[in-house]
Amino acid sequence: MSRLRGVIERVPAAYYSDERQAILEAAREFAMKEVLPIANQLDPVQGEIPMSLRDKLAELGYFGILIPEEYGGLGLGIFEYVLVTEELARAWMSVASIIARGNGLGGGFSEVQRREMLPKMARGECLGAFALSEPGAGSDVASIRCRAELVGDEWVINGQKMWCTFADGADFLVLVARATPYDPQNRHAGIAHFLVPKERGKFPPGVEGTPMRKIGYHGWKTWELSFNDLRIPKDHILIGGDRADAREGFKRVAGWLSVARIHTAARSVGLARGALEDSIVYAESREQFGRPIGDFQAIRFKIAWMATEIEAARDLTYAAADNSDRGHRNDVEASMAKLFASEMAEKVTSEGIQIHGGAGYTSEFALERYWRDARLTKIFEGTSEIQQRIISDAYLPRPKK
Ligand SMILES: Cc1cc2nc3c(=O)[nH]c(=O)nc-3n(C[C@H](O)[C@H](O)[C@H](O)COP(=O)(O)OP(=O)(O)OC[C@H]3O[C@@H](n4cnc5c(N)ncnc54)[C@H](O)[C@@H]3O)c2cc1C
Repeated sequence: MSRLRGVIERVPAAYYSDERQAILEAAREFAMKEVLPIANQLDPVQGEIPMSLRDKLAELGYFGILIPEEYGGLGLGIFEYVLVTEELARAWMSVASIIARGNGLGGGFSEVQRREMLPKMARGECLGAFALSEPGAGSDVASIRCRAELVGDEWVINGQKMWCTFADGADFLVLVARATPYDPQNRHAGIAHFLVPKERGKFPPGVEGTPMRKIGYHGWKTWELSFNDLRIPKDHILIGGDRADAREGFKRVAGWLSVARIHTAARSVGLARGALEDSIVYAESREQFGRPIGDFQAIRFKIAWMATEIEAARDLTYAAADNSDRGHRNDVEASMAKLFASEMAEKVTSEGIQIHGGAGYTSEFALERYWRDARLTKIFEGTSEIQQRIISDAYLPRPKK
């Protein structure tokens, strides 16, 4: 495996194939030429990812990396998804995230829905948003209260959702709600996933959205949603509810999060790499005391740690992805990769700001964007504390209730 300034030039031997190498190089070239300049221009003004860029992502097949070929996707694995994600995130995390809106949201579709929707998702023509979190239910998914009641041939939805990123731009929502009343003795039961079709750019009757003011992750909006008698057809239940296993809906959230966490680990590695690459350029060009700051051991050693931590996080991420592709259970490995990579990304991007001195604290340089976005990786798809809980539960008996 050869390296150039924190960038992997060659997919490591253990995972190498010519196809993977070509995927890596194509994604890198695209990210640096087509994504980075747009990110630098739009993030400071909180502009939205342009449709022209989305079209290019679609042409490259990035919305359908994980979608089987028979449904119009590339039919590749999580490893390839990770390769592309790291490169896109190095340029703009939001772009690395939007590809999940095709790749990650087909779980539970019926065969009819798969035939109808997956080809459109792979082409980027039909993208989703995931409405799970609520005002009272973040880390504690089993406490969601949003309610779906079957009335005749329709589900009637009432309740609140928080933090639904891309709810406005999406062509459908995957909504997690309770198909049976909340039972404090059996909180994991009755959780179901629903397909909520909608028109891009609008909310359907029965849904009101309020954009949330956030400090990063620009390029798209994150919404608080209010459901008031939203009606959807009976067959739009995807997972859980009245099915045989009352806990299926909850378990499938956990399964979905496992892939999302590996995706987040790759996003974190990409962000950290941006900080490292930019810091190296700055350390070579910025002079103080008559010499480049990159001559000072204090700066050199920061670079050494940044590069080492990126490598370690990437290796964990690759291992979790490979494990997943081989069909092994990997919730703990996914949590480890996510925990380590996201904590690393915040630290490394912060060190990048330090290397830039005052310049790092301005929006003239991308460092502050990397840092703001890296900060989020420790929070979404399960906070660092929740990852630690999952990991420690695998090593120690669970504490008694
Ligand atoms: C910008 C952004 C975009 C998002 N996009 C989406 C989206 O598209 N769809 C979606 O459904 N959600 C989304 N989320 C929500 C995100 O997944 C939640 O914010 C996250 O799961 C944490 O939940 P919370 O914010 O309610 O924090 P809380 O769960 O209230 O946690 C608060 C603090 O308590 C800690 N804590 C909680 N429980 C425990 C415990 N048992 N042990 C130890 N510590 C604990 C947490 O780690 C945290 O430090 C998004 C969030 C943000 C900020």
